Amino acid sequence: MTTHSLTLRDDHLKELRDHLLRDDGCEHAAYLLCSIASIRRDPWDREAHRKYLSARVIPVPDDQVIESTPTVVTWSTASYVRVLKEAAANGQIVAVVHNHPAGMSSFSPQDDANEPDLVQLAVNRNGPETNLLSLILTADGHIAGRVWLLPKEGAHAPMRLIRVIGESWNLHYPGRGGGTAMPAFQRQALAFGDALNEDLRMLRVGIVGCGGTGSAVAMLLARLGVGQIVLFDNDIVDRTNLNRLHGSRQADADALRPKVDVVARAISELGLGVRVVPVEAWVGDPQCRDPLRSCDVTFGCTDDHEGRLFLNRFAYYYTVPVIDMGLSVDVDHGEPPTVKALDGRVTVLSPHNTCLLCRGVINPQIARAESMKRTNPEEYEQRKAESYVAGEGNPAPAVVTFTTELACMAVNEMIHRLQSFRGADGSAANRVRKFHLNEDRQPGHKALPACPICSSDTLWGKGDVQPFLGRVS
Ligand SMILES: [Zn+2]
Ligand SMILES: [Zn+2]
Repeated sequence: MTTHSLTLRDDHLKELRDHLLRDDGCEHAAYLLCSIASIRRDPWDREAHRKYLSARVIPVPDDQVIESTPTVVTWSTASYVRVLKEAAANGQIVAVVHNHPAGMSSFSPQDDANEPDLVQLAVNRNGPETNLLSLILTADGHIAGRVWLLPKEGAHAPMRLIRVIGESWNLHYPGRGGGTAMPAFQRQALAFGDALNEDLRMLRVGIVGCGGTGSAVAMLLARLGVGQIVLFDNDIVDRTNLNRLHGSRQADADALRPKVDVVARAISELGLGVRVVPVEAWVGDPQCRDPLRSCDVTFGCTDDHEGRLFLNRFAYYYTVPVIDMGLSVDVDHGEPPTVKALDGRVTVLSPHNTCLLCRGVINPQIARAESMKRTNPEEYEQRKAESYVAGEGNPAPAVVTFTTELACMAVNEMIHRLQSFRGADGSAANRVRKFHLNEDRQPGHKALPACPICSSDTLWGKGDVQPFLGRVS
C-alpha cells in the first residue's frame, strides 16, 4: 500500500489563505502545483510513500467562477485544463484547493460528488498514472487533504500528514489533539502541551553523522519522544570517540562496531517506543535516498564538507528542513593552549533561508578533495603527496560538553519551530554561541546573487529529478 503526505511551504499557504479565506463567507478555489518525491520504501513502515511538495499557487480567477456560496464553489474548467497542461510539462500534479467557511475540516458530500469529474479530466489530459490532490482550508487554521487515485472506482486515500514549512513548522494529521501522552512524557506536556508530544511521535527525523554531536542529538530526540529516527554514518567506533559518543562503550571500539548500530542500540534500550533505523553509509550513497526523503526534518551533524554540500542541496530540493551544526575551536600552540574562539553554530537550511555555501560554511575545494578520497583513494593519495589537494589536518579539538550543548541548541530550535515557545519572532535561521564570550549571536548572510540553491526559488521543492539533486533546466 502506498501512503501519501504533503509538504506545503508557508508562503504558498499564505497565498492560498489570502485568496480563499475572505470576509464574504463563501467558498473559493485555487490550484496548487506539486512536485513529487516517490519513495519506494519508507524505512519505518516498509511501504511505498508519495510525498507531494508545493511548487506554485494559481488562484482560480473570479471571472471564471460560476457559483460561489457558503457551501459550494464551481468554476469553468478552462483554467483547470491550462493548469493540467503546465503540470504535465513539469512532471507535477495538481491539487485543487477550496475553503469551508463554516469550518468543516472534512470533505462534504458535495466534494465527493464534484471531484470525480475533475479526476476524470486529469486522467484524460495527463494519463492514467495521474493523481489529483484535493485540499480544504478552514478559517480556524485546519487543513485536510486527500489523494484521488482511480476516478471510476471513486478511490481516494487520506493524507497521512500535511507539513507546513516556514519559520515555524506546523503539522496537520487526522486525530491531532485527541491523544494523551505516555507517562514518560507527561512532565514535558506540562511545559509544552500534549500536541507537541503528538507531533514528536508523528515525526520522522534523520540524523546525518553519529559522532559526538549526532549521538547527542539522537539521544535527545529519543528522550523527547520522536517516533521515528534514522541514523546515517559509515564510521566505526574508535577509542578516541568514547569520551564524546553517547551510548558507546569500550567493547564497541574493540569490536569495531558501526556508530549507527551503537547509537541505535542505546535508543532501543531506553524503551521509549522509538523506531530507530541505522543506515551504515555515507549520506550521499544511493541507499540513503529513500530514508532521507522519508524524513520530515533532518539534523546535519557531519563534519565533512562533501556531506554538508549534499545536504545543502537536499534541503531545498525536497523542502526537508536540515538543521546543520558545527563546532569550531580555535586555540594557540601554548601548553596549555589558550582558547581564541570556541563557537557552536546551528543553521536551518530551508527555502527563504541563506544556504551554507553563501554563509561560507562549506569549502568547495575541501569537498572536492573529500569526494576524491571517497571515490578514488589512490588518486587522492597521489595528489595529496603532490600537494594538489587539500589534505586533512590534525584532528580538530572537541569536548563533550560543547558538542552536547550544540546538540541541545539544535534540538531546541526544532522544539521552538513546532511549538513556538519563544514567541512569534523566536526562530533563528543561524545562531552562533560564542562559548568563550558567553554570548549568542545571529549573524545574517545574504544569498550570493548567482547561488543556484538559495538566491531564487528555481530549485525549491523540485523533488525527484534525474539525476538525483541534479541541475534543472
Ligand atoms: Zn468542500
Ligand atoms: Zn546560497
